[in-house]
Amino acid sequence: MEECIFCKIINKEIPAHIIYEDENNLAFLDVNPRCKGHTVVIPKEHAKNPFGLSDESLKLLFVATKKTMQRIDEKLKPDGYNVGWNQNSAGGQVVPHMHVHILPRWRDDGGGNMHSIVNHPGDETVEEVAKYFNAQ
Ligand code: AMP
Ligand code: ZN
Repeated sequence: MEECIFCKIINKEIPAHIIYEDENNLAFLDVNPRCKGHTVVIPKEHAKNPFGLSDESLKLLFVATKKTMQRIDEKLKPDGYNVGWNQNSAGGQVVPHMHVHILPRWRDDGGGNMHSIVNHPGDETVEEVAKYFNAQ
């Protein structure tokens, strides 16, 4: 028996407000929303993060995310979105089943952007970091 809470939602062992579902993915309203329509999109296959999913599964997850956003767009008509995932505990991940957060945004809702997640660039210059990648 799978102990993961999101696998339990997939198996309909615990309820959720499902707003999109296809063969491979499921999207439901976050139980503790940070904004109206805060939604998580999950692959039905259990994996902690994208490194544990095939390229094909990730493509389908990305398409399911777009389709979920189109549904939110139609019903809630937000002005914008932030979309992404928390990866590993350092990235703030709590539920160990890959999930894409969709945060609908409204003008003047007081929220931030990607840059408000962290501001700790460290001691190395951008040029020094580029050397790790042999990037020009
Ligand atoms: P995180 O792992 O930090 O990226 O976030 C996990 C998210 O899942 C949080 O925003 C929770 O509010 C949400 N969550 C946890 N359990 C449930 C549940 N049973 N139904 C809906 N959302 C959930
Ligand atoms: Zn799971």
